[in-house]
Amino acid sequence: MDSGATHAPVAGMYHHIKQLMYTVRVGVPDPRFGNMLLEQFGGANGELAAAMQYSVQGLNCEDPDRKDLLMDIGTEELSHLEVVGTLARMHLKPLKNDRRAAHADPLIAIAGGGGVNLYNSMGDPWTADYLKITGELDVDLRSNIAAEARAKIVYERLINFTDDPGTIEALQFLMTREITHMKAFTLALDSLGKPEFSIGRIPPTPGLVDQYFNDSTGVGDRGEPDTRGPWNQGGDWELVNAPAFQELESEKAGTRQANDREPVHSSPDGR
Ligand code: MN
Ligand code: MN
Repeated sequence: MDSGATHAPVAGMYHHIKQLMYTVRVGVPDPRFGNMLLEQFGGANGELAAAMQYSVQGLNCEDPDRKDLLMDIGTEELSHLEVVGTLARMHLKPLKNDRRAAHADPLIAIAGGGGVNLYNSMGDPWTADYLKITGELDVDLRSNIAAEARAKIVYERLINFTDDPGTIEALQFLMTREITHMKAFTLALDSLGKPEFSIGRIPPTPGLVDQYFNDSTGVGDRGEPDTRGPWNQGGDWELVNAPAFQELESEKAGTRQANDREPVHSSPDGR
């Protein structure tokens, strides 16, 4: 092949190096715990979901600086997938031949031969429905901050459910990196310089935007109160008490409109 051809393959893109981002050691395998680890392999808040979410957001991103951030972290998440997959595999391996271990997860024992696959801890297949990709950079960054928070708390719970020191060390590493990512995404969002509650281009309706609807009222059976806090008092807030029980001042103030009181049926020809 002519090496000078304009369509010659370029070295780079994805490349695998046979070294884990974090060396994984496991003492005594725990097949039940291996099943729990699958949540971070093929689950909703797991590493594949994170890798795909950030990488695909990066493909859509027209801001070269934040695109670099999305591709950096998306690629690191693929390295995490390899670490958590290796860890889960170590814990699940006895399922292949050990009859008692096989009872811990029959699906992985019989269909999977004690190996990992892209399923969550309940055996549900990984799905692109897990991904939050809007094509709006600031909205995507907010999703990513929340995704990192979820990944962090799942790792924390996993740490609480194992006594194996090597497993805890690896999970502590992965958990820590999620906080690092949350920090990077948060600072990237801040650096866009957008006002805090500004999303998109169309401004919210003045007045209505500052109305807090007190839609849950009274005192609950266990003494649950009707509460005031910075989320509904002070600043520009206006508390609207029990709007369902009062006529709204403007027919556009809520979702109700005068002609909404009768159900509207439309037919295909518009009659
Ligand atoms: Mn990760
Ligand atoms: Mn992360």
